Amino acid sequence: MSERGDIIDQANDRAAEFVGDREAEIRRAAAGIPAGEPGDCDHCGLPNPRLVNGACARCRDKYRLP
Ligand SMILES: [Zn+2]
Repeated sequence: MSERGDIIDQANDRAAEFVGDREAEIRRAAAGIPAGEPGDCDHCGLPNPRLVNGACARCRDKYRLP
């Protein structure tokens, strides 16, 4: 194998490793955190890009919602 080929192989290995790490990280995050959806908050009535069970982040904190 030429030196150039080795460098490319190493780069490919590193890239695959990096993607694998990121993917595992994203899967862990996605498993623990509900995705939520945009809409008007059921509690304060304000539009929010991410409601979980109809409540915005501020109301979830305020009313100690999950
Ligand atoms: Zn709210």
